[in-house]
Amino acid sequence: MIAKLKSLFRIWLALLGLAFFVSCTHAPQQLAISGETMGTTYHVRYVSANPRHNPERVKEAVDAVLVQVNAQMSTYDPESELSRFNQRPQTTPVVISRALEQVVRRALEIAEESDGALDVTVGPLVNLWGFGPQARPEQVPSEAELSAIRQRVGYHMLQIDNHQMSKQVPELYVDLSTIAKGYGVDRVALVLEQLEIQNYLVEIGGEMRMKGSKPGDEPWRIAIEKPISTERSVQRVIELGDAAVATSGDYRNYYEHDGVRFSHIIDPHTGKPIQHNLVSVTVITDTCMDADAYATALTVMGPQRALEFAEQKQLAVLLITREVDGFKEHSSSAFAPYLSQ
Ligand code: ADP
Ligand code: MG
Repeated sequence: MIAKLKSLFRIWLALLGLAFFVSCTHAPQQLAISGETMGTTYHVRYVSANPRHNPERVKEAVDAVLVQVNAQMSTYDPESELSRFNQRPQTTPVVISRALEQVVRRALEIAEESDGALDVTVGPLVNLWGFGPQARPEQVPSEAELSAIRQRVGYHMLQIDNHQMSKQVPELYVDLSTIAKGYGVDRVALVLEQLEIQNYLVEIGGEMRMKGSKPGDEPWRIAIEKPISTERSVQRVIELGDAAVATSGDYRNYYEHDGVRFSHIIDPHTGKPIQHNLVSVTVITDTCMDADAYATALTVMGPQRALEFAEQKQLAVLLITREVDGFKEHSSSAFAPYLSQ
């Protein structure tokens, strides 16, 4: 009896030892965290075998940086650095954070490159047409209202010099909605790099950046949605490697008035929501900030100019247009490798 107990005890000890061994030699596993930011959700997936990378700890670091980005550039927070700049009655330069400087500088560069298709000062027009922090208008704005507002819209009235930012008219309103999500993704990626996480996929509100692969060398795959608002279905699945991707489209954010569809993207040259058949623009590039900004700029340009611009800049771009008989894909030469997957 004693001998039997002893041998049972030994088996139990051996099992315990095995369990301990297994728990010490972690295989890399895929972990996930998620949360809310910038009026939308974020998701991060990453691969690690390091107990230091436990999800609670990683989430804490990710949330901290997102809170910081919001405090710098959200127009939904009246206390943010950007909101305070917008409310400021003076036109004299003011010292700004390096983060805000970096994003505004890039926005102004892409504004120049795109001949004003991207314009981060269109905020008052966005609000006029009912897509900003203020509510939707009861009616379509009149031409008089439109031209009054256009007096204080134009990225040329915004300057950055020597870490200082200034505006030419006190009412200038800077809205970084079109670039901030992408920038947020880049900042989260940087946090992961600093934690020495080498394999990850970061997504904020559909804008993504990824690096490395899943456990077992499986590539990260992402789905580009079909441009329809009634259901979520897949247009195309692609593998990106180490890159960022953003999609801009009028199929989710729009409203209808008297049967006319109003997009949340404004053409700065007309002051009105865009009205063409380009319904989805996907851009793949190194940083998510650029992908996000270019996706909006190309959406404003419309299919023909967007493709010309993509060729000229060697940007990997997939466009989807709405045709009488359904949707049509158009892609730039730099997008070709993703088509053949
Ligand atoms: P989403 O990716 O959610 O479709 P975008 O990144 O394309 O959104 O950005 C849309 C937002 O950008 C709008 O809600 C508006 O605040 C702002 N916006 C609209 N038109 C322009 C423009 N021409 N240039 C810069 N920002 C714009
Ligand atoms: Mg976008």
